Amino acid sequence: MALLNNHKPVQLQLSRNLIKTIKRGHRWVYADALRHLPNAPAGTPAILLDTRGGREIARGYYDTHGAITFRVCSNQKNMPLNDVWVMKQMERAIALRQTLFNQKTNSYRLFNGEGDGLPGLVCDIYADTAVFNLDGNAAHGFWKIEEIGKWTAEKLSLRCVLIKDKKQVTAIVGTLPVNPIEFLENDYPFSADVKKGQKTGFFIDQRDNRQRLERYSNGKTVINMFGYTGGFSVYAGRGGASKVITLDSAAPALQMADAHWQNNNLPINTHETIKADAFDYLIQASKQGKKWDVVILDPPSFAPNEKSVPQAMAAYTKLIAGGAAIISSGGILAASSCSSHINSYDFLKLCEEGLSKARKNGDILGIYGQPADHPAP
Ligand code: SAH
Repeated sequence: MALLNNHKPVQLQLSRNLIKTIKRGHRWVYADALRHLPNAPAGTPAILLDTRGGREIARGYYDTHGAITFRVCSNQKNMPLNDVWVMKQMERAIALRQTLFNQKTNSYRLFNGEGDGLPGLVCDIYADTAVFNLDGNAAHGFWKIEEIGKWTAEKLSLRCVLIKDKKQVTAIVGTLPVNPIEFLENDYPFSADVKKGQKTGFFIDQRDNRQRLERYSNGKTVINMFGYTGGFSVYAGRGGASKVITLDSAAPALQMADAHWQNNNLPINTHETIKADAFDYLIQASKQGKKWDVVILDPPSFAPNEKSVPQAMAAYTKLIAGGAAIISSGGILAASSCSSHINSYDFLKLCEEGLSKARKNGDILGIYGQPADHPAP
């Protein structure tokens, strides 16, 4: 077996003392912290040495031209990066998921890249299908994805292993599924369109937040903005909401939201889908004086990079102000951000700002993040 690129490792030398940072679990080193950049194909294994070039700090892989020049796989002394090491990382990741889930939830993130000590390697499970995603050229060069896919299939008795690459999906084990893959989340049936859907087909990282939302839904009117395939909507319905709207700008997602609603045996007349731009809809609804008891805002990332942060902050503030304006007295706002460049403290400030703009007062019921199958180093 060869689960990894077995090129001869290149040596990299730090130009800044990042030893403490790396020891504390930081997994990325940028070009400006390295003394020289040897010529080597993306994904070549690399050994990182201290500023004097004498002491080994970490092992990982290298990308001369990529945004992240060196990714740390291990900061343990003289840990060889080989099949034994990869299998150890993967088995540890699998053991965590076996602790977390039972047959009621057969969709979860199996490998969460850096958070599972497998930099750049991501894998989501939907029932007996695995969907792999590699972050960048270097990850493609470093991980032997076909072998890793076959190993995973055998380990978890999977029928199908797919790789999703930007818009393209290929099968390594089994064949490409024709229909969306059906799975259970907390015993609720859903499906993921791996090929056409966003991410690997479903936003499994909101699982725990959907359950939290369910508890607030009994007898309530709910609007799920940026609702995608209706994950939050179904939980609201199962929690006893009297009326749920799923709003999204994408028609295919809304069709799936309707299907999910029906597959969960919820009454057809209590769910409505609206194809609209959320920002426009908020202005219009507010003008018309419409109100809901629960407003869910889970937009796509507004800040994919550092440069877009100011613009993203303005967009979030506008969105939260708009959401707050259509909440009935005593109602609930559930706001999410998946922008890695805006931390949770800053996001809370934006929520304050948005509420203040809408001339509303609010109390914090909870601040949450991703579930435990999405660990971070
Ligand atoms: N909350 C969802 C995931 C949301 S993903 C879940 O739990 O599954 C973000 C969604 O926002 C996508 O479905 C995308 O189509 C939609 N979207 C993006 N921009 C939008 C806009 N301006 N107005 C409405 N929907 C938008």
